[in-house]
Amino acid sequence: MTLQEFTAEDFRQYNYCSRIIYFRYVFRIQPKRTYKMLKGQEYHDEKIRRKTQSKRENRTIHYNKFIAIKDLGLSALFDAIVEERGAYYPIEYKTGKSYPKIPYHHLMQLIVQAIILDSYYNTNVEKGEIRYGSEKRLETPITLKDKLAVLKEHTAMLQIVLNETMPSPTAHEGKCHDCEFWLMCRRA
Ligand code: SF4
Repeated sequence: MTLQEFTAEDFRQYNYCSRIIYFRYVFRIQPKRTYKMLKGQEYHDEKIRRKTQSKRENRTIHYNKFIAIKDLGLSALFDAIVEERGAYYPIEYKTGKSYPKIPYHHLMQLIVQAIILDSYYNTNVEKGEIRYGSEKRLETPITLKDKLAVLKEHTAMLQIVLNETMPSPTAHEGKCHDCEFWLMCRRA
């Protein structure tokens, strides 16, 4: 049996609402994209997806790199990977709402990206960065404990898919307003 692959983005979604994983991988639904998602896509296409690489002194930034680590069942399309004096870390660009500190669902996406880079470059990624719009940059340390938390979530996500169990809806009803799966879900 092939290992179910998850993307770093799936972990972000799982931490937004675990039911999304059920719709994505059990129902395999491709819902219509919301207005907010389309705006985000436009921003990425215009500001990031056209770039390939930039270099300055000891720092190289690789843009739009897709990496899949089959043995881990993990993959990610990286907005940017910074390579600086032999160390690597991911940068994720976000549109829409900004936060005073990195929220957990964005943090988990970065940690999964860090694990993928660890394996791909045979390194130990110790931090990540999120940019909200063009103004705000938030950096976070990434520890071994963080990476182990991803393994635990990976198991929980696999169980949803293999057992075909629909999780309860998120406790935060406000999240449903922006959710692309609302029409199939309706918190039923
Ligand atoms: S509509 Fe709400 S409960 Fe349903 S998948 Fe979306 S966020 Fe989760």
